[in-house]
Amino acid sequence: MIITLRSDATPDFIQIVLDVAARYDGVQPRKYEFQGANGAATEVHLLGDTSQVPDKAFQVLPGVRRVVRVSSKYRIIGRHGQADAEVGFEYNGVKFDESEVLVFAGLCAVDTRESVESMMQLLQKNGLTTTRMGAYKPRTSPYDFQGFGADCLPMVFELAGKYGIKVVAMEVCDARHIDEILAALETTGNPTGVMLQIGTRNTQNFELLKQVGQQALLPVLVKRGMGITLEESLNACEYVATEGQPNMVFCLRGVKSHLGDPHRNLVDFAHVPVVRSQTRMPVCIDPSHSVGRFHFAPDGLPEAYHATGMGVVAGASMVLVDFHPNPAAALCDGPQALTPEYLPGFLAYIKQMRAAYEAVVQAGPIAH
Ligand code: PEP
Ligand code: MN
Repeated sequence: MIITLRSDATPDFIQIVLDVAARYDGVQPRKYEFQGANGAATEVHLLGDTSQVPDKAFQVLPGVRRVVRVSSKYRIIGRHGQADAEVGFEYNGVKFDESEVLVFAGLCAVDTRESVESMMQLLQKNGLTTTRMGAYKPRTSPYDFQGFGADCLPMVFELAGKYGIKVVAMEVCDARHIDEILAALETTGNPTGVMLQIGTRNTQNFELLKQVGQQALLPVLVKRGMGITLEESLNACEYVATEGQPNMVFCLRGVKSHLGDPHRNLVDFAHVPVVRSQTRMPVCIDPSHSVGRFHFAPDGLPEAYHATGMGVVAGASMVLVDFHPNPAAALCDGPQALTPEYLPGFLAYIKQMRAAYEAVVQAGPIAH
């Protein structure tokens, strides 16, 4: 059971709600604060058996906005049938709230200072304030480049600040990486923000999920596990949320299957509306790791554009995409990176796909 309070709820009122809930045997009340895109929201969750708790006990209280009966599945991240549920959050001046499509374009793996700087310069020139920069790379082979780790963080954060980048999406594979990122942000004077990324290989690394959830400073991008069900991947988000960090975006990136050949993964963007109806998370798509190659269709557009269009037309509100100024020299995933000259066209393409999405939603499913 979730009691959503009005935005002007005072600490005294929140305590009253907690006290009322605690009167019922076997019920443990717990308070959650969500920094929603439209302001802060407080919820009191009643854990345990709530079958004896009448909705009315809370509905009569003046500061209660609504009382929702929830299934135990996705208790915190779930939408629980609320069409008008608050979706998203704001972080470091960037709204992750589905009102537009955020584009996180950048390097799969940080390599040289020159690559990072030319990438950031390109983003600024194109009006973007969000990027991706991999410092910790989980690789299939121990002989492959594993990322420059903590050594490259000050350089990346300083350059991000220099070019007005507000959020850098960055994968972490171990709790130590979170500490290193927080330390580097502090020593560089917080010139930018970081969104912690859980990679597809770690979607069931439960201890890492808990540790990412235990920090409240940085929002989290959880990638779909490549070989597990959607439900199992969404449970990863519930793990992060139960530890205290509800500010998450869920990222579809394709699933591993030879049925996706010749693509790296089988594109799963038909799940965008599924995730949106089951949860309160904005949905991101990663066309680069889904398609896995830079290849033109006969219509002249790269396949990664088409994959992006599918996700955006289905309601995705964030795109994580690999770019590299010189893919041949990239230390990881060069063959799937788009090159700088495509960025303006890619952004224009996304705008058109978003406009198509908004138009079809406005028109509704039945032609008039
Ligand atoms: C990445 O985004 O750099 C990455 C490794 O993606 P995934 O975890 O989806 O393979
Ligand atoms: Mn990659």
